[in-house]
Order: sequence, then C-alpha cells, then structure tokens
Amino acid sequence: MSDPIADAAYASPAIEDARRTGAPGLVELYEEIADCPACGLARTRTQTVPGSGPAPAEVMCIGEAPGAREDEQGLPFVGAAGRFLDELLGDIGMSRETVHIANVVKCRPPGNRDPQPEEIAACQPFLDRQIALVDPLLIVTLGRFSMARWFSGTTISRIHGQPKRFGNRLVVPMFHPAAALRRGDLRTVIHADFARIPALIEEARAIRAEAPSDATDPALAATAVPPPSEQRALL
Ligand code: SF4
Repeated sequence: MSDPIADAAYASPAIEDARRTGAPGLVELYEEIADCPACGLARTRTQTVPGSGPAPAEVMCIGEAPGAREDEQGLPFVGAAGRFLDELLGDIGMSRETVHIANVVKCRPPGNRDPQPEEIAACQPFLDRQIALVDPLLIVTLGRFSMARWFSGTTISRIHGQPKRFGNRLVVPMFHPAAALRRGDLRTVIHADFARIPALIEEARAIRAEAPSDATDPALAATAVPPPSEQRALL
C-alpha cells in the first residue's frame, strides 16, 4: 500500500528541484519539512514550500511566507512578487537558478495573514539548517519578518539596502517585492537596493576569503524572534 506522506514528499516540486541541483543534504531537509506538524499552519497548508535553488549558493534571499500560488505549486516566489523578483535579479545579471530562495515559514498562513511569532519560532530550526547548508556569502532579507532575525529595534524603511556583517557573511535588508508592487514609490527604492548586490557579493567574497569558516556564526545565534509588539512596529 502506498504511503501518502512519502508519496507527497516524492512528488514535491521543491524536493525535485533539490534533487536536480544536487544540493547535498537539502533533499533530506525538505523531506523532513514536508512531514512537519510543528505549528498550526500544518493543518491548513496544501503542501510545504521549503525553498528553491542550489546549495551552497553565494546569495540567499529570505522572504516571509508562501502565498496562495506558492502553496499550490510548492515553490517560493512563483506569483506576481516572484516575477518581480526575477526581474530584479535579471537586471543585475542574475537568475533564480543561481540564487537560493526561502521563506521564514514554510507553510502558507491562511488568507495570507502575517506569520505569527510562534509559527516563526517553530519553523526557525528548519531555516537555520537551510542557511547552514546553503552557507551564503550574502543573505538578502525580503520584508520585515526575515529582517527581524538579524536587525531588531529598527524599521525596514530606515535600514533597507544597508549591509551588516555577521560572522563571515553579509546580511542586507530589503523591502519585500510584494510591498513594491503595492506601493509604486518603493519600486525605485528596491531596484536601487538590488543594484548594490553585485558590489556586495564582491565585498562578501573578500570577507569569506579572510574568514573561510566561522563555527560560531553569530548570524545564526542572533535569531531571537522579537515580541509581537516589536514585529508590528518593524515597517
Ligand atoms: S510553518 Fe514550519 S513549523 Fe509550521 S508546520 Fe510548516 S514547516 Fe512546520
């Protein structure tokens, strides 16, 4: 008799993507996520959306949560915001095939509501392991929830586009592409922030050359989920 969980995991587009890229350890992580019951979002998801793209990768983009299209297709950033992300990457000579893309939570919040602190906390070990496998030189946080892992007590309006070094990598906060689609004035801002990525990659390569390994990566240590009041104030 077939095992529905195993069948679902086998059919997952994200797992197929991880197999195709040959990313060591990623298939196992995605299979584990596919079976995860750790928060309430497990009851309402169609399928998990763990991520896409190679591991290791120089650049990792981390968004907030899957939306309706992602929940349907099992891959991150496949709706309108995803097409805009493709455009932003294309403008700097990059593509999603070379970038690892993930979200803070791996299951769609019903009605596209914000992910709750307890859901972010429950999913955090998966994202930590994903970052460890991808080992990016540069993390681009998209939106306030992923930004909050590294930058607290500030707003994205204040610090977007400004990189900060954590261990042997750079983290740069940027607006979520969906926010730029909703607010035309942010389109120019996000284009300008993305235009800085090639120079930031060069800077991050130099950091990594000088510090090839960092066993006590403070980026992963600095993952405390801020209290709900602080999260609401981040934009
Ligand atoms: S959001 Fe994360 S912790 Fe919650 S059920 Fe999905 S995979 Fe598990």
